[in-house]
Amino acid sequence: MSVRVRFAPSPTGALHIGGVRTALYNYLLARQTGGTMILRIEDTDQNRFVPGAEEYILESLAWAGIKIDEGVGAGGPHAPYRQSERKAIYMHHAQQLVDKGHAYYAFDTAAELEAMRERTPNAQYDSTTRLQMKNSLTLPAEDVKKAVDTGEYVIRLKVPVGEEVVLHDLIRGEVRVMTSQLDDKVLMKSDGMPTYHLANVVDDYLMQISHVIRGEEWLPSAAHHVLLYRFFGWEQQMPRFAHLPLLLKPDGNGKLSKRDADRMGFPIFPLTWTDPRTKETSVGFRENGYL
Ligand code: GLU
Repeated sequence: MSVRVRFAPSPTGALHIGGVRTALYNYLLARQTGGTMILRIEDTDQNRFVPGAEEYILESLAWAGIKIDEGVGAGGPHAPYRQSERKAIYMHHAQQLVDKGHAYYAFDTAAELEAMRERTPNAQYDSTTRLQMKNSLTLPAEDVKKAVDTGEYVIRLKVPVGEEVVLHDLIRGEVRVMTSQLDDKVLMKSDGMPTYHLANVVDDYLMQISHVIRGEEWLPSAAHHVLLYRFFGWEQQMPRFAHLPLLLKPDGNGKLSKRDADRMGFPIFPLTWTDPRTKETSVGFRENGYL
């Protein structure tokens, strides 16, 4: 099987230098194996969309010499590579999960979700609470149909009870998670956009990604992703996972932030970036003379 890797940033601001490093690992594996480097833009969170961020990502990768073989800016057989242009694909797949009984519609208001959390401290939407909530598992069929017709719903993953999800990470080894710790993640939001989890799994499968190489902050999500691969019937095609350690603060406590970098006098972004909201400018590695 040929190696197909992807860098999948969200255009929510300037690219962190840690993101460039993640892209670099993907690129090196692609080049070493004669594989394909793909750029996918994960722009389904419309509240966090920042104008200019996508252009910034493209320019940063070009500056770093990371050449994109397929995807945004390069085209290819699986276009479009911008997730906001693939909405119908995700809806179709979410519907399949509902039909198979692995996902369900939920109609709870923000106040009802809040009340659930107040009733039980640390409660999450999961197998212990879902039957007390307003969803297609608890409401009569005709009410469900009416509610779905209004378009005011989310689709949630129905996490199975009492199972252990095992995944093999190329860096971390065997990772085991009990399903009792996993919440019924929202897959489709009420604005018709998918969440990261659904869009990421559907696209990695459809784009025939062989290796998912990404930051370690995504390791906790991987168990949900394994369940999605299973429920779609794609287990045999599941990519291999490699979760990279993050760039940390010098004391090793947490992810290196822009504030840390400012304090210690080095850049955090590849290129100079002016935040369109605050108008604050941060000088980049390029402008600092780094090659
Ligand atoms: N859009 C995610 C991010 O911004 C991608 C994570 C992944 O590679 O799965 O980091």
